[in-house]
Parts: sequence; structure tokens; C-alpha cells
Amino acid sequence: VIDRAAILAVGSELLTSTFVDTNSLYITGELERLGVCVAYKSVVGDDRDELAVAIRQALSRVDLLVCTGGLGPTDDDVTREVVAEVLGRELREDARITAQIEARFVARGLAMPAINRRQAMVPAGAIVLDNRNGTAPGLWIDAGEQVVVLLPGPPRELKPMLADAIERRLAPRTSGLALARRVIRVTGRTESQTEEAVRSLYDTWARAPVPVSATILASLGQIDLHLTALAATQREVEAVLAAAAGEVVERLGLDVYSDNGLKLERVVGDLLIARGLRMAVAESCTGGLLASRLTDVPGSSQYVDRGIVAYANAAKVELLGVPQSLLDAEGAVNEPVAVAMATGVAARAGVEVGVGVTGIAGPDGGTPAKPVGTVAIAAVVPGAVASRTYRFVGDREQVKFQSTQAALDMVRRALLTARP
Ligand code: ATP
Repeated sequence: VIDRAAILAVGSELLTSTFVDTNSLYITGELERLGVCVAYKSVVGDDRDELAVAIRQALSRVDLLVCTGGLGPTDDDVTREVVAEVLGRELREDARITAQIEARFVARGLAMPAINRRQAMVPAGAIVLDNRNGTAPGLWIDAGEQVVVLLPGPPRELKPMLADAIERRLAPRTSGLALARRVIRVTGRTESQTEEAVRSLYDTWARAPVPVSATILASLGQIDLHLTALAATQREVEAVLAAAAGEVVERLGLDVYSDNGLKLERVVGDLLIARGLRMAVAESCTGGLLASRLTDVPGSSQYVDRGIVAYANAAKVELLGVPQSLLDAEGAVNEPVAVAMATGVAARAGVEVGVGVTGIAGPDGGTPAKPVGTVAIAAVVPGAVASRTYRFVGDREQVKFQSTQAALDMVRRALLTARP
């Protein structure tokens, strides 16, 4: 049974600073759906020695090696030859492939260059995978219990070929198990606080009849917990993950904003729709990013009324009704100003939910009392006014993003806890 794979992306361009190996992401997704896990992947240049080492290593570790790239007609396309060499298979020209390649050229009124015959070379015992969108055929090579698959580099050639190979050759050789993933999204905790709270679940999950594995990923302003499991059917694996997600929510409570991978702006939007509320935002240091994120969600016109960017103090007074005396006495970055912005924008829009964000995104403008990254945020919802001063770390862009994340989260928590 094939259940562990390695992916080898071949091409010197993939080792430069300009080309990204996206094929391996695509291949990983396709293999996962069959319950085949990618144990590791590598990127190798068009170098016979490096490639031979990488192939030997893969064959010592996994059941399935998928190579992409390096099947072209030129001298630097060496995948086919090196694979044949490592497997000890002789290469022979397949007259049928030569004829097909020749026909593609003839159809365009061209003669086939002699070097293209190279693409018709097939290792003994290999099965040829037709290329509907290009000249380089792919190859499926059985090597004892193991399989080596060679696919062309261009994504539009690779995709249909991989789909065919999976359906006709790979699916019958896999366990038939279904794999599923579920992403639980958390705010308001650090990575280690999250891990600490859920770690004791890992052991139980590992010993369960359908084991669940978990990985924590931290990014700016949020933590994602990825749960993965394999089971006989899609329905079973999804039920197992739903139960595991429930256990996480029990531990983390309100800090979980989505138990199935939704974005925070979407979660907030869904809450507003469910309660029939509308929202307006007043932004200073985030410069419209909050309104932008809110309106990234399709259908947000149902609940977004307006966003006002009031950068200058005068704009805060003129557009939001923030009292000049408050700004004179306290400056622009503090919770009373954020609250005045939130209530001001909500009142002017005539909506129930308002948000105010005012802070110092940097790199200049900080003071000892209010360093760069100091951001005051307020949310007004029916029955509650929330506000808090944050000290975010990072550059200007990161401070802006974290401010919007905190503002959205404040609205979410206020909506879930307020008693209107
Ligand atoms: P062809 O005969 O069509 O050239 P090939 O197998 O020789 O196929 P390469 O020459 O290695 O393919 O790559 C051709 C192009 O395919 C690259 O220029 C790049 O645009 C794309 N490509 C190659 N490898 C990858 C990869 N791992 N991820 C994304 N794109 C890739």
C-alpha cells in the first residue's frame, strides 16, 4: 500500500530568488486527498549528481517519489536519464512517442528538432503518461513495491497528467482511507499558551481508534491549530475532527473564533448578520485597512455601513464629533478618543455597532509614555462599550494589521458577551 510520498522539484530556476516551486503544493493537495502523506520534499537544480543523491535518498524513505520538471528536450533536462540510471534501467526510444511529438510539430508547420527525440526515451518497464498539453510525456515506473512518477514542470501539463495517473494507477494502490483537515483559529493567546491549554488532548488523540494529529502555526495576530486525521470514509474522518475541534473549543472558550478555518472578518460579518446589526468604523492609524478587510467578505454590504479615515485631529472633530477639548487634554491616542470615534461614527451612520482605532504605527511618532505600536481601540455594540490600549510589536505594516485584528476581535467578543 502506498501511503508515504516524497516530492522532488527539479530545475535550476527553482533555486534562484525569482521562481517558486508551486507544483509541489499542488501535488501535495492531490496526494492528501488519497490519504497519501508527503513525508518531505526537495528542490534540486539541473545537476545529475545532486539529482541522483536526492532520488536514492527518496527511495530509501518513501513508497512513492513524484518528480516534477526536467523532462524537456535540452541538455539540462536530466530527470529521465538520472532516474533510469539510479534504477538501473536502460533507456530506449519509444517510436510511438517520437511519432506523437513529430505530429505536434507538423501540426504547427514545423519540423521536429532532433533533440526532441530525447523526450521519447523511456526506461525499460516504464509506463508512458500522455501529455495532452505539451511534448514531454510523463513516466510511471514500478520499482518493486515502490513507484517513481515523472511529471513535466509546466503546471498546465502536469495537472491533467497527474489527475489521470491518480485515477488510473495510484488510487488502486493506496489504502482507500480518506484524509481530512480542520483549522481552528485562535486569538488572544500566544502560541505557547495555546499549546499549554490543549497539549494534554494530543495524547488522547494519538491513542484513539482514528488518531488525530495536531500542528500549531503562529502568524501575526493569530494562532492556527491544524488537525488532521485519516479514516475509512470522509464522513467518519469529518466526525472525528468535529469532535476533536469541540474539545479544543471547550479548552479555549471564546479565544477560538473559528473551528473550521474562517477568517476573522468573516466571523464578525456572520455574527452581525445573525443579529441583524450594522456597523461603521472610524480609523486613524490603520488608514482604512479595517474597512478593507471587512469589505473583502462577499455580501458585506449587508452589514457594513461606512468606514471613515480620520487621520488628522481636525478630521476626528469634523467627521466624528470627537470633542476638541478631549484631544487637547489627552492627545489623540487613548481610549476615551477611541470610544468617542466609535460612538461618533456609529451615531452619524445611524448603526448599532461602531469601532474606533487610533494609534502610533511608527516608525516615528513614539514617546516614552506612548511608544510606537501603542494603539487604542474601542468597540460599541448594543449593551456594551469595550476599549483597550495595546502595545503591538513590529513594523508599520505589522502594527496596522494587528490593530485591525484586535479591533475585529473586540467586536466579536463584545457581541458574544454583551447583554443588550
Ligand atoms: P518542458 O518539456 O515543457 O520544458 P520540463 O519538464 O522540462 O517540461 P522544466 O523545463 O523543468 O519542465 O520547466 C518548464 C517550466 O515549468 C518552468 O519554466 C516553470 O515555468 C514551470 N515549472 C517547472 N517546475 C515548476 C515547479 N516546481 N513549480 C512551478 N512551476 C514549475
